[in-house]
Amino acid sequence: MRLTFFGGAQEVGRASVLLEEKRKNLMFDCGIKFGEKTEYPLIHDDELKRIRNITISHAHLDHSGYLPHVYSKNIKPKIFLTKPTRDLMGILLADYHRLHTSGRKRLFTIKDVENVMKDARIVEYNEPFTSDFRITFHPAGHVMGSAMTLVKGDERNVLFTGDICMRKTRVLDPCEKNLTADTLIVESTYGGREDIIPSYKESYQKLVTLINQTLDRGGHVIIPSFAVGRAQEVLLALDDYMRSGTLRHARIYIEGMIGKTMKVYRHNAIYANDDIKKRILMSEDDPFNSPNFHRARTKTREDVLKEPSIIVTTSGMITGGPVHFYLEKLGNDPINSMIFVGYQARGTPGEKIVNGEKCIRIRDKEIELKLKVEKVRISGHADYNELLQFIRSVKGLKKIFIMHGEKTDLKDALEKDYEVTIPRLLETYSI
Ligand SMILES: [Zn+2]
Ligand SMILES: [Zn+2]
Repeated sequence: MRLTFFGGAQEVGRASVLLEEKRKNLMFDCGIKFGEKTEYPLIHDDELKRIRNITISHAHLDHSGYLPHVYSKNIKPKIFLTKPTRDLMGILLADYHRLHTSGRKRLFTIKDVENVMKDARIVEYNEPFTSDFRITFHPAGHVMGSAMTLVKGDERNVLFTGDICMRKTRVLDPCEKNLTADTLIVESTYGGREDIIPSYKESYQKLVTLINQTLDRGGHVIIPSFAVGRAQEVLLALDDYMRSGTLRHARIYIEGMIGKTMKVYRHNAIYANDDIKKRILMSEDDPFNSPNFHRARTKTREDVLKEPSIIVTTSGMITGGPVHFYLEKLGNDPINSMIFVGYQARGTPGEKIVNGEKCIRIRDKEIELKLKVEKVRISGHADYNELLQFIRSVKGLKKIFIMHGEKTDLKDALEKDYEVTIPRLLETYSI
């Protein structure tokens, strides 16, 4: 068997890895990379034409965003994913199309997005299917519908993790462990020795304290968040803390695409953990539609700005969306605060602000940021110790490829027990 990395090697973004065995092939993920400019997998169209199968680990665009580009070239491999991934991907790809068409070069159309959605085949967890290879999806715990892909070839079993989370979260169970595979392709977002993430309890306590302090002084709290994953976790936690009285009562506003993704989470609640399922199925209680959640009533959002409130809004890395409106209105008053809860990619406005930048350019206007900026780590990824624990749980493991990250500490820690590779872009490896 052979593995080729067209993206996601020593970088976070544009995940795409080709697995081949004789004439059979399968591409794990098909993502894009956002930064100062958007980058695509480094695969030529001739090569792309040969791809027969693609599995999508989860909806995030760094794993799925290249699909409409593939379709726009009139190349239509079979696409496999879970139902929540399909539903969430539809929202993210439509949004990507909207952003994309504002640029000068249009590389795909909304029709391509629709066709991807129409053709994608839904697969359930733990139900093996065959397309060239025998393939099984296993829960990955990262966002709703996220899946690890286990492939049985003639000689080898290969496990591709996509993004994984080892902790039980508000919404999801942790990823499955103790799978059997001789070759592992593993994410390493937090693959540095210093990447140890505090417990959720600790993080949420910090978040609640910061919010209470802001509300007490009469300020607004802005929480920039990704629409898929972090938003649901944070919103459900805020709702719980408010119900218990730990968090001061205030309106929680949901902004941007988060409204839509909350609905998809609700419709796919069967994929959530047992706590959520019980709440929804055995009582009238709907955690995704709590009476504490509100939407702005008008375009000018006077109701949101009128009194101290908590605003959970896209975009998570301040690249656009309603968070820009709120920074224009609330950014230059130290009474307010902005709390980051998610990963900030290099070069994004979010990363610059977290690192102390005190102004931001919005619609050609410089906004001076006087509001308090805080960071609370509520991650959907396994941290360094958890990655080691996950890897060591894989039975029969011999070869490890570490991707979706920029650090190499995991290699040092694992090298004496396994054959560990940090793959390079466009390089092919025999396994
Ligand atoms: Zn992800
Ligand atoms: Zn990712």
